[in-house]
Amino acid sequence: MRFSKTFVKTLRSAPKDETARGAQYLCRAGFVHKELAGVYDYLPLGLKTLDNIKRIIRDELDKIGCQEVLLSTLQNPEPWQKTDRWDIKKMDIWFRTQLAAGGELGLAPTHEEPVVELMKSYIGSYKDLPVAAYQIQTKFRNELRAKSGIMRGREFIMKDLYSFAATEEQHDEFYHKAEVAYKKIFDRLGIGDDTYQTFASGGVFSKYSHEFQTVVGVGEDTIYYNKDRSVVLNEEVLNDEVLAEMGVKREELESTKAAEVGNIFTLKTKYSEPLDLQFTDKDGTRKTVLMGCYGIGVSRLMGVIAEKLCDDKGLIWPAEVAPYQYYLVGIGDKGTKFANDLYHGNEDNTLFDDRDMRPGEKFADSELIGLPYRVVVSDRGLENNEIEVTKRSSGETRKYRAEEFSLKHIDF
Ligand code: ATP
Ligand code: MG
Repeated sequence: MRFSKTFVKTLRSAPKDETARGAQYLCRAGFVHKELAGVYDYLPLGLKTLDNIKRIIRDELDKIGCQEVLLSTLQNPEPWQKTDRWDIKKMDIWFRTQLAAGGELGLAPTHEEPVVELMKSYIGSYKDLPVAAYQIQTKFRNELRAKSGIMRGREFIMKDLYSFAATEEQHDEFYHKAEVAYKKIFDRLGIGDDTYQTFASGGVFSKYSHEFQTVVGVGEDTIYYNKDRSVVLNEEVLNDEVLAEMGVKREELESTKAAEVGNIFTLKTKYSEPLDLQFTDKDGTRKTVLMGCYGIGVSRLMGVIAEKLCDDKGLIWPAEVAPYQYYLVGIGDKGTKFANDLYHGNEDNTLFDDRDMRPGEKFADSELIGLPYRVVVSDRGLENNEIEVTKRSSGETRKYRAEEFSLKHIDF
């Protein structure tokens, strides 16, 4: 992308109610635009970043045999009434809307009910199981407090995966695969070392659920962990009984703030029973399908990565997440011409700062935007046959011979 051709400008200040550092950078660097509290637009750089996060998620889920779908956002009240989740007193986060023809629809906050309804058309026999379907979709939740930028939205992007099994063993096998896939996803997103799989409250049907919590100062949750990581608990399950079961003492645990980036639940028949999702087993008997659900906060992740991977100058994107790999700057006539030649053939992975601005301003923007490498071609550098490359994450600068230089040669 040529910087001069995009309408996006970097800003000196973020909206004043944006308090988290990463959230401020995302606004200032032109990744997102704040519409309302908890409601954001994604601009070209932000959209590419989000797409990269989605690509990593898709890649790992497809590897464990999940199939992608896209379910409707407008919700028929009926299945939600059957599970008693249409009631605003039980689900206080509903956004509702009126049909012109009469009647009410909801804007999906999650998709257990509709996905079960859908699967009733396709699951009939044990031969149809196990199966797992996921989507990456916009959810709507009337959250009381929307702070920390895109980390808690009223409109946000979630990956939600649902598994359907005939037996406990089938369910457990898939649940385990999902755990492993989640670990790989968070590793590839550059936050694996600080993301803990925690024991959380499991609701009615299983003792615990698992959450994936990333340690971050602006996180809304508190987790308790011991240093060797073998026990990590959410605050809500921290009690004497659980501690005894896990074989740890309260004083062996440290606490820290964290953000929930994902969760996995064993649902058993919580939704399949009231909605009547059944299959015919080998022996001809009708049985209720066993389910699991597995969420990841896609847009929240972008906020968490921004918050964790930044310094006092700006964002620091991991290579697989960054919207572009190279921030290219030409200085002087020869430098600019050379940079222009480098840009050709690299349009997809390079942000070419060809704006009519002082180099200092471009350097500051390159640090704010946080692409992995800044490549500077200047008249003076070319006189010495040199091109300067700076790695954003370490600040290290290396010089490459300008002759025969290609962006592919960057190797540190
Ligand atoms: P939280 O406790 O943060 O409200 P939740 O338990 O309501 O999360 P789920 O309904 O299981 O979350 O949603 C799956 C994932 O979607 C969560 O793990 C989280 O990463 C993300 N998520 C939930 N609510 C929001 C939100 N308002 N904005 C952005 N992401 C969200
Ligand atoms: Mg919630």
